[in-house]
Amino acid sequence: MPDVDDVGLVNPDENRPGQKTGGIGLSPALFDLEKDLLRHGLKTINVCPCQEGCPSCVGPSRETGRQAKQVAQEILRGLLEA
Ligand SMILES: [Zn+2]
Repeated sequence: MPDVDDVGLVNPDENRPGQKTGGIGLSPALFDLEKDLLRHGLKTINVCPCQEGCPSCVGPSRETGRQAKQVAQEILRGLLEA
């Protein structure tokens, strides 16, 4: 498998956030948005017309199982109450 360094077009200091000392500042912003992101995820699932979960709300059905929608809703509600 080719390594990103093999391409020669990538500046590793700018394009590899996991390798930049101190990160690139995205995580603090995401932590500030945590509850909004969880609420948006729950709303996306709640308004989806499917019954058990679908790729539009919880992901591919072969990977999520038959109870995916209900389980995802319960997890998100629990996280929002925490
Ligand atoms: Zn759905």
